[in-house]
Amino acid sequence: MKNRFYVNSMAYSDGYHEVHHEKCQLLPNANQQLFLGYFENFSEAIGKSKRIYPLSMGCQFCCKKKHDSKQGIFEL
Ligand SMILES: [Zn+2]
Repeated sequence: MKNRFYVNSMAYSDGYHEVHHEKCQLLPNANQQLFLGYFENFSEAIGKSKRIYPLSMGCQFCCKKKHDSKQGIFEL
């Protein structure tokens, strides 16, 4: 099942843009988010985001399974 992912169009002070799942509680305001597309997992979403913003990283809240799972599959 694919999920929608967004990237925060406003970089943080360190220059990074944060990627979020559509249901993340930390999803930025509508005017600060850029729709990335539908992806199987956030690793793919971050890969897409890096083509737009080379400094992209997964949100600590919704993308932290990347550190827990070798698969990198996002599970709801
Ligand atoms: Zn998030």
